[in-house]
Amino acid sequence: MKNITITIDVEEDCPPMLTSTRGIEEGLPKLLDLFKKERIKATFFVTGEMAEKYPDLIRRIPEEGHELGCHGYTHARFDRMREEEAKISLKQAGYVLRQFEKRVVSFRAPNLQFPESYLELLEEEGFRYDSSLAAYKPPFSRKTKIEGKIIRIPTTITSSFLRLSPDIFLPFLRHITAPVIFVHPWEFVDMSGMPVRLDCKFNTGEKALENLKVLIHASKAENCLFLTLEERASF
Ligand SMILES: [Zn+2]
Repeated sequence: MKNITITIDVEEDCPPMLTSTRGIEEGLPKLLDLFKKERIKATFFVTGEMAEKYPDLIRRIPEEGHELGCHGYTHARFDRMREEEAKISLKQAGYVLRQFEKRVVSFRAPNLQFPESYLELLEEEGFRYDSSLAAYKPPFSRKTKIEGKIIRIPTTITSSFLRLSPDIFLPFLRHITAPVIFVHPWEFVDMSGMPVRLDCKFNTGEKALENLKVLIHASKAENCLFLTLEERASF
């Protein structure tokens, strides 16, 4: 690893299975406190709806030097929206988020599902970077690519991968020059008693936070740079 980009999708708990927001209330402050203590920057993709509901917490993101990105207005999937609905969602989310930080240029679609034909909408709504592709999901994109005026930076691993043992994820990530990591605030709350899929609950809570610390410390030990998505695009 030469640089690493930590991204956080800020949404309700394990959508669409739950509508609770313990992740934002309890998990998000833990992440922000950890990043402050470690003096590192990250990119937070926030839904417009959660920004309206938790303005004081969302305000901390730009105030503490992180990049504020967009995760749609709600967590509804863009591949299930008509073009007009997609445009309204992007416009509404952009309007809400830009009240916290004028420069909101990065986007990630809920469930990493964003039709290619909608990329122009991103451009029209002021976005420049998209992280809705993933190395582990069809079409298995690993490399940054430019489509129209949008720079697309795929995420490297799925969030639950980081909840496995560091003996598994560290050797894997060490082989990648510039991984894009992605997590959710609800993973840092104990979800073991919740009615969700196993991959949404195993090793959530303290164990997930411990693993993230291990990753941060290992990255620092390799003199890795911590870049936001926007910084990484221009790196
Ligand atoms: Zn999401």
